[in-house]
Amino acid sequence: MTGRQGVLVTGASRGIGRAVVLRLARNGHAVAGCFGSDGPAAKETEAEVRALGVPCHFAACDVADPDATEAFIADAEERLGRLGLLVNNAGIARDAPLVLSSKEDWDAVLATNLSGTRNLCRSMAFRFMKSGGGAVVNMSSVAGVYGNAAQTAYAASKAGIIGFSKSLAKEVARYGVRVNVVAPGFIETDMTGALPEKLREQALTQIPLGRFGRPEEVADLVAFLLSERAAYVTGQVFQVDGGILL
Ligand code: NAP
Repeated sequence: MTGRQGVLVTGASRGIGRAVVLRLARNGHAVAGCFGSDGPAAKETEAEVRALGVPCHFAACDVADPDATEAFIADAEERLGRLGLLVNNAGIARDAPLVLSSKEDWDAVLATNLSGTRNLCRSMAFRFMKSGGGAVVNMSSVAGVYGNAAQTAYAASKAGIIGFSKSLAKEVARYGVRVNVVAPGFIETDMTGALPEKLREQALTQIPLGRFGRPEEVADLVAFLLSERAAYVTGQVFQVDGGILL
């Protein structure tokens, strides 16, 4: 893969997705970004990317809906040309102990995090295979590696992403397509901003580096994995977690 391919990033409006989009735009990649709702965060991120002078296309698209994701991809390709890179970052958490949790929350978390990843990979892997290669990064979590109390749905979705990605990596390697997973620990975004102070303090005691990570620190690893410098890396899971001991 060359260093200037177009990239599709889901969950591009805020947090880690926003940092990934800005990092790749600064590297000169055209960017197609989708998000859940077309709010102020989405507009702000789009304006920042445009200011960097790279071609881009931003739109709301529910990753859980395969018709919507296919339409978003087709639209983005029409505007930006071939997209050779994919980052499945969109994700939600609905934390509750299992015995207090609802089936609706289970369905929503699995639909967005796991089926969303599947939907984008299904469409893009086909294009990558036909066009001679591509690279994918799927966003998991340390919760998917170690498990986490009150996160059965979230952890199941994130563990599912790991099994899914390793299997896909084996399927598509011979077509020049690489698939890797990034599993962040606690990163400063709206998602962790919603944590009660007590849980935050408890989390900090588990992090040897003594702080939450920054979205840019995840984005740097994503950019590396998408680049030619990672040409011999596929099917792997990389934790960005300050050495967390869950
Ligand atoms: P965030 O700040 O809550 O942002 C989530 C992004 O996903 C937003 O752009 C949101 O769009 C989008 N999104 C949510 N549901 C969507 C849907 N159905 N279709 C399309 N886009 C959707 O989250 P974050 O903290 O940056 O997390 C990004 C990823 O990293 C997630 O997969 C998360 O599980 C994972 N992760 C985060 C942490 C952490 O500590 N922050 C740790 C481990 C893993 P709207 O703005 O429109 O809602």
